[in-house]
Parts: sequence; structure tokens; C-alpha cells
Amino acid sequence: MEATHHRASYEGIRGQLGKLCRVTCLTILSGCDSGGRGSNVQMRKDIFTDRWVIVADGDGLQPTDFHFKKFARGTGFCPFCESNEAATPPEVFAIRNPDSSPNGQGWSVRVVPNNRPRLRIEGQVARRAEALHDLMNGVGAHEIIVETSRHDRSLHELETGQISDVIRAYIARIADLEGDKRVRYVLIFKSHGEGAGAHTISHSISQLIALPITPRAVKAKLMIARDYFALKERCIYCDVLQQELKSRKRLIGENGDFVAFAPFASRFPFEMCVLPKFHSSAFSRMGATQRENLAVILRDVLQRLDQKVGGPPYNLSLHDRPFLRPRGTTGTQSRRTSTGILKSCLRCFVLPDSSGLRDSSTTHFAGSRRPLALAGISV
Ligand SMILES: [Zn+2]
Ligand SMILES: [Zn+2]
Repeated sequence: MEATHHRASYEGIRGQLGKLCRVTCLTILSGCDSGGRGSNVQMRKDIFTDRWVIVADGDGLQPTDFHFKKFARGTGFCPFCESNEAATPPEVFAIRNPDSSPNGQGWSVRVVPNNRPRLRIEGQVARRAEALHDLMNGVGAHEIIVETSRHDRSLHELETGQISDVIRAYIARIADLEGDKRVRYVLIFKSHGEGAGAHTISHSISQLIALPITPRAVKAKLMIARDYFALKERCIYCDVLQQELKSRKRLIGENGDFVAFAPFASRFPFEMCVLPKFHSSAFSRMGATQRENLAVILRDVLQRLDQKVGGPPYNLSLHDRPFLRPRGTTGTQSRRTSTGILKSCLRCFVLPDSSGLRDSSTTHFAGSRRPLALAGISV
């Protein structure tokens, strides 16, 4: 189990975010009280990760009981605004007006390499040993997906069509990187607000990191899904989804293709999981109607989060399946041919001000390292 201190989950988002009556979100530290307001402490197991989470039932808590560093938009020069295209590296993808030119004005979504990348696309993945330890070159990609040309709009303030274009950009980049045999996994995440690690950038962006490895957390989820399938001959994600739809206890939103719910064993306040109703392990295989429906539900839950909780910082991360690749140099096909058993989903969680919750766990996931740490990557 994860013995670290966890504030608990938010089952109370059930129904709608406006009715946070039986919210469960308290800090629980060993040897530290949880603010004196919770009672029923439970340990809940996340069925997808086998991770135990300590959850407190915070009857009567309101969103205003939590201290968030409200999102504040910075002013001054911004390299991601329209007309400032020359301030970024050349774009690798853009959704543009037909009569516009690359790296000029007239775009709605633009993807550019990060000018301070954690990984670089040049070179080969070369694994080597150093005594008993393995290491490899830092080959990969680190890109910025600029979600809008306007500085004064956050993701939830965009029109559905524009959010659909952002998803289109995610899909295009994943599909393109799948063609690069050095890449095994693409991680896409978004940090909104200072508390979520976006302290220097207030323009609405997402980040993409393409890795030459499959993160440990993704491997663990794959193995759990595979074991479940071996036992029941059913998909664990589709089963959980059916149960959430039936009980409707933790349901936040639903449309023709997607469901948003508060995970049973949430690790963060206001955590939400957006899962497709159809079974799909590959985010990039989504069709146009499904993309529209994802944009609709995402806009809805993010708007409600913003309105009901008061503009909190949040992280959004895409949980996708790894690419199928031959293993090693022998060219044999991966043993993990069952990657289709994983279901692609979006997870969103709010990051409260650590001083407000007296929870030191934020130091574990400090700044922009948080989404990477969530994917099981140490940086
Ligand atoms: Zn800007
Ligand atoms: Zn499924």
C-alpha cells in the first residue's frame, strides 16, 4: 500500500459539483489530525492500480473549506499569443485558416517543440549498462500544445468546437509519434494555474512528452487489466464503468460516448475520471463524433469545477496505452500484445494550496513534476 499521507477523495462530486454534501476530502497524516471534521476513515483500493488510499468521510464540507490558489492570468509578453509565433520554435502541427502560412498568424491550435525540453528527438535510443544499472540516451520529444491563440481564454472557456480541435491536435501528435519506432509511450498533460505547476505560463497550453520507455505505472495497470481479463474474460474498465452508471453514486456527467465520475479511491480532491463508453485502448483511434462528445463533457466538468470550486488550479492527464513495439534487438514481438485491454481515459484533479490543507504530500509532487510523477516517472 502507499503508506504516504493522502488527503482523501471526493466522492461528494456525485450528481453535480454543486452538491458537495458528503464530500470526502481531508488530510490524513500519520500523527496528524485531519482538521477535526472527518470521522469515518476508510482504506479504499484503486481497482486499476492496486493502490490503497486512505479516505476520510468529510460530512458537511463545502468547496469553500479548501484553500486554493485561484487562477490569475499573467500579463506581459507571451510567446504563445497570436503574432508572437517567431518567439517559439517552428510548429510541428497547427490547425490554421486555409489562406494562412505556417508559423504565421491565422491559427486556432498550434503545436511547437518545447524550447527547454526534458527529452530531445535527435539521436538513437541506446541502452547500455553501467555496472548493474541500465541507462539510455534521453531521446524523445517534449512539445507544447497551444490550445488557443487568445491569451484571455482558459480551456473551459473555449467553445466546444475549439476544445474538439485541441483533442484533434492530441490525436494527430500521438498518431505521428506512433510512426517513430523509438517512442513507446506518449504522455499528455495539462497544468492549469500556479498551484498546478504552471507558474510561469498563464496562456492555455498542454504538454506532450514522448518517451522511449513504457512508464512503470502504465505497465502495472496493464498487468492488472490482463489479470482481470484472464479471470473474468471481461474488461476491468468497462466493468467499472457499467457499475458507476448503474449506481450513479459517483457520477458527474454523461453523454452518448463518455462518462465522468469520481473514482472510488481518489487520491486528490475533486478527482475525476472521464472514460469512454465504447471500449478503446488507443486515444488516437477516436472518431470525429467521439471527439466532439469528449469536448462536450470535458468543457462541462471543467466549467463546473471552475464555477463551484472557485477557479482552482488543476492537472489533467491522458492515460493511454503504450505503442506495440518489438522488444530489444531481436525483433520479436512484444509479450504485451494485450495492450488493447487498457482503456484510454482522462483524469483531472485539483491541487489545493498545501498551506490550506496542511498536507505535505504536495512536496512529493512539486511543481510541474507532478504529472510525470503520476505516470511513475522520476524526474
Ligand atoms: Zn498568451
Ligand atoms: Zn473495455
